[in-house]
Amino acid sequence: MYTVDLSGRNGIVFGVANRRSIAWAIADKLNQAGARMLFSYQGERLLGTLETLTSGFIDPVLVECDVTEDSQLDHVFDVARQEMGSLDFVVHSIAFAPKETFLEPFSNVSREDWKQTMDVSAYSLVAIGRRARELMNEGGSIITLTFLAAQRVVPGYNMMGIAKAALEASARFLAFELGPRGIRVNAISAGPLRTVAARSIPGFGTTASRASSVAMLRRNIQQQEVGGLALALISDELGGGITGETIYVDAGYHAMGMILNPDEEG
Ligand code: NAP
Repeated sequence: MYTVDLSGRNGIVFGVANRRSIAWAIADKLNQAGARMLFSYQGERLLGTLETLTSGFIDPVLVECDVTEDSQLDHVFDVARQEMGSLDFVVHSIAFAPKETFLEPFSNVSREDWKQTMDVSAYSLVAIGRRARELMNEGGSIITLTFLAAQRVVPGYNMMGIAKAALEASARFLAFELGPRGIRVNAISAGPLRTVAARSIPGFGTTASRASSVAMLRRNIQQQEVGGLALALISDELGGGITGETIYVDAGYHAMGMILNPDEEG
């Protein structure tokens, strides 16, 4: 039987809030492959959940970090250096936009809301990539999570679409700069998944049900399907030639042109 072997590999996972988090599905696959992980969580309230989720993992390390604080990011990477010595991968699965940005017309977005959304959701990848490169002595893989609204208008997604466009471009520029060091940087564009972050987007339920009816596979994806691609992108054996890429795990939704109502199909 073929298995992906990541034993002896170390990485950091940002963005596990609970069992539904995309980062959790990724961490679950990486754990099964034998990798050791440091989990960064925002806020004390998440510690108990993370302790429960990661019990049984290989020597998990848990470190609190708000990614908008440089000193807290420094601390995460200092702990990673002390505990693990070097890094092989980083998973960046973080986003935030103030609720008003989803409710108000896009053209009303305030300067403050623009800055905060870009800071948490896009700049954080660059801040993390810069620190990760110093610990990736033998190459590595950095993964971020994005959404179709980076490329096309998804009504209501508004400011988060702008941040995802910046995130995807940032991943490409990082991939170019870090490529000579053997560090690969890729974005996974996931279809709608019911998570805490998704629930804060008004109309998410309608988006998810519409996507499932018109996607090529006529269904929505599952968290584990994103985890599977992340595992492949982190494994040098499977994903070693892939960098600077945005890969869709969305049951084919992104490639549809004219979208018919289900009862109009010929
Ligand atoms: P999630 O479980 O709510 O994960 C989002 C994570 O971001 C949470 O752990 C959250 O922590 C963290 N976060 C927010 N602001 C932070 C900050 N300042 N510092 C540190 N962490 C912060 O939701 P998810 O759906 O898995 O989201 C993960 C990624 O997938 C996001 O980039 C999202 O845009 C992307 N994505 C999601 C979907 C979807 O349909 N769910 C589709 C495509 C892409 P707190 O809980 O403490 O705020």
